Amino acid sequence: MHLTRGPSCLPVLLACAVSLSAQKPAPTLTTAPPLNPKLAALKAEAIKDIDGRAQFTQQFVDQVYSFGELGFQEFETSKYIVGVLKANGFTVREGVAGIPTAWVATWGSGKPVIALGSDLDGIPQASQIPGVACHLALVPGGPGHGEGHNSGQAVNITAALAIKNIMQRDHISGTLKIWPGVAEEQLGSKAYLVRDGVFKDVDVVLFSHVGSNLQTGWGASQGSGLVSVLYSFEGQAAHAAGAPWRGRSALDAVELMDVGWNFRREHLRLQTRSHYVIRNGGDQPNVVPPTASVWYYFRELDYKKIKELWAIGDSVAQGAAMMTGTKLASERVLGSAWPGHFNKPIAEDMTENIKMIGLPKWTADDQRFARAIQKEVKGDSTGLDTAVAKLEGDVPDSLNMGGGSDDIGDISWNAPTIVLLYPSNVPNLPGHHWSDAIAMATPIAHKGATAGAKAQALTMLDILMTPALVDSAWSYFKNVQTKTVKYEPLMRPEDRPAIDLNTDILARYRPEMKKFYYDPKKFRNYLAQLGITYPTLRKADGSCAATPNTLQ
Ligand SMILES: [Zn+2]
Repeated sequence: MHLTRGPSCLPVLLACAVSLSAQKPAPTLTTAPPLNPKLAALKAEAIKDIDGRAQFTQQFVDQVYSFGELGFQEFETSKYIVGVLKANGFTVREGVAGIPTAWVATWGSGKPVIALGSDLDGIPQASQIPGVACHLALVPGGPGHGEGHNSGQAVNITAALAIKNIMQRDHISGTLKIWPGVAEEQLGSKAYLVRDGVFKDVDVVLFSHVGSNLQTGWGASQGSGLVSVLYSFEGQAAHAAGAPWRGRSALDAVELMDVGWNFRREHLRLQTRSHYVIRNGGDQPNVVPPTASVWYYFRELDYKKIKELWAIGDSVAQGAAMMTGTKLASERVLGSAWPGHFNKPIAEDMTENIKMIGLPKWTADDQRFARAIQKEVKGDSTGLDTAVAKLEGDVPDSLNMGGGSDDIGDISWNAPTIVLLYPSNVPNLPGHHWSDAIAMATPIAHKGATAGAKAQALTMLDILMTPALVDSAWSYFKNVQTKTVKYEPLMRPEDRPAIDLNTDILARYRPEMKKFYYDPKKFRNYLAQLGITYPTLRKADGSCAATPNTLQ
């Protein structure tokens, strides 16, 4: 997820992305289920069960952290998770939507169908030894969980296992469907899962995403949708000194597209966000580059405006090709995301459960560690949140200045959906950065995931035991959310998941990363395997911790 957030939230959050001045009081709760002694007893039982699974949750979080895989290359991660699900009686369909690392795991039967999702992928160059409050890469230059996506499946599956036990014993009707957000950082898969029909029979989607508080929201969220496009140009090679007049540089086209876009940027709506990286800038200076490509993210607040922005990008690319005598050879969609819109009745219901659960009990070490990370990256040194954040309400377009995106947006327009943020990371970090990985295999991440699992589980119980809640979720979805807005995919019918992305990076770093995969049979937690004392702070002389002997 790539969204900005309020001061109490992680910088990458969806629902907690409203600035304080834009925050509205929590709306009156109208849909909380009536107090039901049986339901209350089941909730107490689920909380106890999840506390009893704390070690399972911790090992899961640590295991996925140690894989540190990037989008579309989550092979070890998916193999591990699929193994856990199969061992627990789920039926798993793999290779969903033509994506080798995507799967859908199903258990139970009948209605309601609850779909639990969370992302899997990491961030390039974010490798970090956890528990050390300064930059210390595990594999220098390698990828890592600098977004915290190693924790969400642990949240969902811990909750699902607790609820499955209760459903089995009490013969409660319902189907649990667990699915992964593959390549979320590329906005690469969820629209394809929708296209594949994964959410056709789903009643409610409970998505979980790492945050720094326990919170959810409803309505339009702060942030943007986007389309991600790779523009590839073709020119002609020539000796760059001997016969430059015979060459046509594809790199010139890329550079002129970027210059043209940066001039055009001044005359775009203030809410737009766009950024690019050059994926191919040629091979060596004495060969006029015959091929070059540049990868753009075009972000806007709704489908129509995203398409308009994309069309401007196309015209700038064509202009660059004309100026340079090159050809715009291809325009490949690598990802897309609708702006999210989240379900009010389910978000209100979950908020009541969150109030019951509260935040984890942070130790003095947790707080000291969090402040040290914040200081390290010049964020506000507020430590970890100690009060549960409020339910976030709808952000009207007039207050939405844009921001990050998440392809959960596509799913949110196909079935009632909410995003649970759970407190596994430290507030006030930059996002998509090694510092966002530091806490993600420490007690902060573990306790936050357990709290998140409770919020998911209690809300699942409400959905299973209160048909009226599902009815109101659909009433909001049909009569409010989609009354005037109809979903159309941003990607074109011919587009396919960009499953080749990141193969080069993993081919390069995986051999080294493999040496550090977590082995829960030998070590209770990943910090123990790495030989890290928690928390490790900068030394008195200001230097960062030395790499432990075990890792050298
Ligand atoms: Zn994310």
